[in-house]
Parts: sequence; structure tokens; C-alpha cells
Amino acid sequence: MSAPGFLPMTRAEMAGLGWTEIDILLVTGDAYVDHPAFGAPLLGRWLRSQGWRVGIVAQPRWDRPDDVARLGRPRLFAGASAGALDSMLAHYTAFRKKRSDDAYTPGGAAGARPNRAAIVYAGLLRRAFPGLPVVLGGIEASLRRAAHYDFWSDSLRRSILLDSKADLLVYGMGERAVSELARRLDRGEDARGIAGTAFMGGPADVPEAAACARLPSYEEIQTEPKKLMAATLALEAQMRSGSWALQAHAQRAVVFAPPAEPLATEELDRLYALPFTRLAHPSYRQAIPAVEMIRSSLTAHRGCAGGCSFCALALHQGRQIASRSRQSLLAEAAELARRPDWDGSVTDLGGPSANMWGARCASEPKACRRSSCLTPSICPHFQDDQAGLLSLLRSLRSVPGVKHLRVASGVRHDLALRCPDYAQALAAEFTGGQLKLAPEHSSEAVLALMRKPSFRVFERFLSLFERESQAAGKEQYVVPYLMSAFPGCTDSDMRALASWLRTRGWKPRQVQCFIPASGTVATAMYFAGIDPEGRRIKVARTDAERLRQHGILAEGRGQPARRARGGG
Ligand code: SF4
Repeated sequence: MSAPGFLPMTRAEMAGLGWTEIDILLVTGDAYVDHPAFGAPLLGRWLRSQGWRVGIVAQPRWDRPDDVARLGRPRLFAGASAGALDSMLAHYTAFRKKRSDDAYTPGGAAGARPNRAAIVYAGLLRRAFPGLPVVLGGIEASLRRAAHYDFWSDSLRRSILLDSKADLLVYGMGERAVSELARRLDRGEDARGIAGTAFMGGPADVPEAAACARLPSYEEIQTEPKKLMAATLALEAQMRSGSWALQAHAQRAVVFAPPAEPLATEELDRLYALPFTRLAHPSYRQAIPAVEMIRSSLTAHRGCAGGCSFCALALHQGRQIASRSRQSLLAEAAELARRPDWDGSVTDLGGPSANMWGARCASEPKACRRSSCLTPSICPHFQDDQAGLLSLLRSLRSVPGVKHLRVASGVRHDLALRCPDYAQALAAEFTGGQLKLAPEHSSEAVLALMRKPSFRVFERFLSLFERESQAAGKEQYVVPYLMSAFPGCTDSDMRALASWLRTRGWKPRQVQCFIPASGTVATAMYFAGIDPEGRRIKVARTDAERLRQHGILAEGRGQPARRARGGG
């Protein structure tokens, strides 16, 4: 089958492009959807725009190596990613039960990728192409780049670099790193030390004059679990400061080169202007659920300044916000509106949060020692642009062919309160009946551990949203995201939250039992039983304790959370 407009997935598609070999192979645990929300196609298009011949193998068989080798040996390197989610999170629930679906697979079927997919794919690539550099990337590799706690096996694991035997690991958003990697390998140069990568080495690999954080070793953490907290905080600080870092594993060490700089606005604009078809590869016979979710959405920015202690996405994308320009977003909306399948609705404008577009640090982020720009209070150097965002939302809605524009990403209510005009317009113009908010909890102590704003801030925003919905004559609901069994949260905290919900007549639908994602500060709390300052905290660790906490809220689920008063 030919697939014009797509990166090749078969030899026949390569031949259609006049290629007899590829330079770079990307293997991914997601189906190939040619959309910038999917990592492998995003990097593939980026590399292709720089002249490299890139092929994609999506969701290969993993019982033998010939499937990953179907495009032949690439000239420079092969990249392996588990996909948009950590494969264990994609496969198992918070209670380690097997999931029956997978939104990134045709037909939504589970079972198209293996557990620990990045390790498995790297192994297949090494067998298929002996001697070829194998590079790990994506969120699974990024979060497991140092020694980490693995919830699924309830054990401390070594850096994924050791278990995969990959040559290099790209952490964070990978565009700069893969470009530099391709350039160096093409010239026959050493690939170690590229910003945004990690590799096996030793102190001699760190430039002499460079600042380098020494993380507690894997063996030290094994002996003394609280050292996972020190290692996690040190890696967080390394991301902020742009230094090097090193973590010993027995006689060897994982060397972390400084993080890559976020893409500048012009670079992000160029990236999103690449010729994505926004479609699933035509070889798929069944619909891919994730496509429906992102088909008509616009990504305005990357990064999240919130620094929530449990958030894997923010850890992967970093604290600095990189925003696209108005022109770029307007051009993409116009292009969407020209598509034959266009239904008139932009379903979301956002990023990791809905309202950080255009935000920046007016000071020196690399010298900053805070773990969040927004908690415990909003940093005086944090400059957001809610008014600019509102103007952008209205401009996008005026694009010919756009009838509706909704905000579906989670709104940072603390930021929304800083601009009454934005909050008012959110309720009156850009909420399609439901607004997602993430108060997560009502306990101030738990919220502080989560690095979330005070519950009073949430209540203030709620009153404002109700008032503005009523003034606009709209019947709207808030969908609150809440979490049970967070480290430091007790049964009585959960009962207090349940009681608050009852007094308000809420029956929340979105209650997530805390899942310790590898690499986060919250997971270090769960593993070590301490807070970031080293104080002992209560942790609901057993399934029975976690289920009990979860049950305190989950009993009332099933109905919309709250109706904002008003007509309609
Ligand atoms: S100085 Fe303030 S705004 Fe800048 S990075 Fe630090 S906390 Fe964020």
C-alpha cells in the first residue's frame, strides 16, 4: 500500500519516496498517527525537515527481531520509545489490574506493545542491527533515566540505560538532542555529552570546569531508601540549573548532560508548520481512540511552571514555558477549518495546563531554587499573560469556519484568578458545559505535599465561575480532579474531603488513586515515607489501605460534580 504524505512504514513506501535506505529508524509503542501530539512522528518530521531519511516502525512484534528490521538497517541510529505513556501505566491500573484498552492502538485494543516496551524494543534493535547506536527516548525513558522506584514490581530499579543496554538516552523534549545526534553520527563524531541526553560513563566524561551534581548511587538508595528523595530533588535541581549530574551504579555511572534548552517560539512555530497529515497511517483498519481526542485540538505551549510533585508530564517537559506565536496558532486553526472532515469546533487550546501560554520567568530561571513557580504562592518573577491568552482565544474563534472554541485542558485556577476578564470569558464563552479543574484535595497539608495551591484559592475560583456562568445564563459543571492515597494523606483527610463534597452536593467522577510514577518527588515520598524535608509522613502503601482511602470518595461517583447555578 502506498501512503503519500506519511513517513514510510514499509519498504514499498520507502521505494515510493525513491529511498533504498533510511538514515534514522524510530520504533514506537503507539500506532503511527501523523500528528504533532505523537512523539515519534513529531521527531520524525523534525528530522525529515533537516534532510534526514526517517522511517517509522509502530507497535512491532516483539517475539522476534525481524519486524523492527523491516525497513532495513538505518545508516545512523535507531530510536526506541514506549509511546505517549509509560508502558506499565498504559497496561495496569492503580491497583495493578490489567487494563483492557489502549487509546493509542487501532480499535483501542490492549496488548499491542510489551510491558517495559522501551527495554524490549532496544533489545530487539540490538539483535537486529549489531553495532548500530540504539537510543532511548519518550516519557518512559525520561522518567526512568536514574535509579527509580517501580510501582508495578514494588522495587527499586536501576537506570533504564543499564537494563536496556542502549547507547544513549534522550530525556525531556527531544528535538535539539536528536538533531545534534544525527549531525554528530553523520560526521563520525562522539555522541556523548549532547544536551538533553544521558549515557554510561564516569567522572572523566564531565567537562572539568562544569558544575556536576552527584546523586546518591543505586546501591546507596537500596540500603537507605530515603536517599531516593535526595536523588530525585537533585535531578530536579539539575533540570532547573542546567548543570551536569552523575549517578553511580556499582563500578559504572550514568552521566546526565545538561538539559536541552526549550525550543524558541520561532522553532516551535516551524515544528508545528511541518506537513503533518493529522491522520492515522492508512494501513490501519480500525479507528484509534486518541486520534478523536486530539484531531481538532491546538497545542499552544509546552512546559508547566506548577511543578506538582506527582506530575510526570511536567517533569518531562520542564518548568520553563515555550509558547507558539499567535500567527502560528491562527494559521493552524485556518488549516483545520479547511479540512474535509472539519465540523467547526476547535476542541481545545492548551498544553500541560490550559492557561500558561505566554508565561515566562522575568528573573534568572537557572539560578532559581524554588521547586514551583506557583506554590506556596505565585513567584513575583512569574509573568503570565491571561489577557493575551483571552485575546488569542477570541481571535481563534474568529477564524473563518471556526464556530466553537473550547478550553478542555486543565485550568490553573490560581492563575485564572489573576485576570477576572479571562475567568469571566472562560465561563461565558469557552466552557462547553464542563470545566476541568484539579483541586486534587481539600487538606492543606496534603496540598502542600502535592505542591498545589491552597483549597481556599479553589473555593474562590469556584464562586467566581458560578457567578459568571449564572450571569451568562449558562448551566455548567465543574469536573474536579481529586486524588486519594497520596503520600501524607490519611483516612481522616479523605473523610474531610468527602464531607466537604457532601455539603456542596458534589458527586465527583474523576477520583484517581495515586499511582507512583517513576521519577517524581511524590514517588520518592511514597517509597521513602518522608517529605522533601526528610520528615516522616504516613503513606497508604498496601492495596487495602489504598482501596480504603479510594473508597471513601469513590462511593459517591457517577454523577456530574456540580451544576453552576444559572438559567438554561
Ligand atoms: S524565579 Fe520565580 S518565576 Fe523564575 S523560575 Fe524561579 S520560581 Fe519561577
